[in-house]
Amino acid sequence: MDVTRAASVVAERARNGRLLVLTGAGISAECGIPTFRGKEGYWTRGSKVYHPMELATHRAFVEQPATVWGWYLYRRSVCRAASPGAGHRAVADMARLLGERFDLVTQNVDGLHARSGVPPERMYEIHGNIDAYRCARACTTRTYPVPERFDDWPKDRIPDAEDLAALACPACGGPGRPHVLWFDECYDEPRFRAESAMDAAARCDVLVVVGTSGATNLPMQIGALAVARKVPILDVNPEDGPFGDLARRSPGGGVLRAKAGEVLPGLSSAIAGAVGARRE
Ligand SMILES: [Zn+2]
Repeated sequence: MDVTRAASVVAERARNGRLLVLTGAGISAECGIPTFRGKEGYWTRGSKVYHPMELATHRAFVEQPATVWGWYLYRRSVCRAASPGAGHRAVADMARLLGERFDLVTQNVDGLHARSGVPPERMYEIHGNIDAYRCARACTTRTYPVPERFDDWPKDRIPDAEDLAALACPACGGPGRPHVLWFDECYDEPRFRAESAMDAAARCDVLVVVGTSGATNLPMQIGALAVARKVPILDVNPEDGPFGDLARRSPGGGVLRAKAGEVLPGLSSAIAGAVGARRE
């Protein structure tokens, strides 16, 4: 499918209906944020090299909280140093144009969608946000901003006892933990808005999937629900994957083998045209 055809599908559906955008690591990789599932995520402590899939677990946090915290504080610094790209800006434009008829489900924890202007009430960060922490004992589901003293955290630095004290739960004084969903944990509504994300999939009239490999469970459920509801799916991704299959199966949908920054501005322009036409 070419951009012109995709733009007309999105514009036609979003003119009076609801748009759901689902984003993954691809949109942020364009801004220099590595996925951390690959070699960029490897972490060295002493002679031991950790694989990212080992560190991003509750089990690793229980065994060595300081090592896991050090890895997340460094990753947070990488995210803070990045800026939203053309893809993020186009998604923020869509949110502004459509208001309550727009929803964003993102697997990214980097906060770039919020920084580009997507309002929090229209966005479901289903894997959490690296800029926040919460109580490791779950005395509350509240989240807190990671303090400024951790800005610009260098790679491979391990927080000391004083650092960890600054990351303690303000409510009970117990240890704090990064507000992210780990590989050995489950989605839920209070922390990760999983039900709200499925509700958005149950009411959307068009689904745009961006830079998502389909490796995680909830995004695939969202795609499957859209297919079952016969909603058009557009898959924006330089590489093919499970969402490409879903998009080809959806009526009116298709795949765009391109980067988010190359395609999404055209889609948001088409929406602007359609919404403007509706108002006239
Ligand atoms: Zn607590």
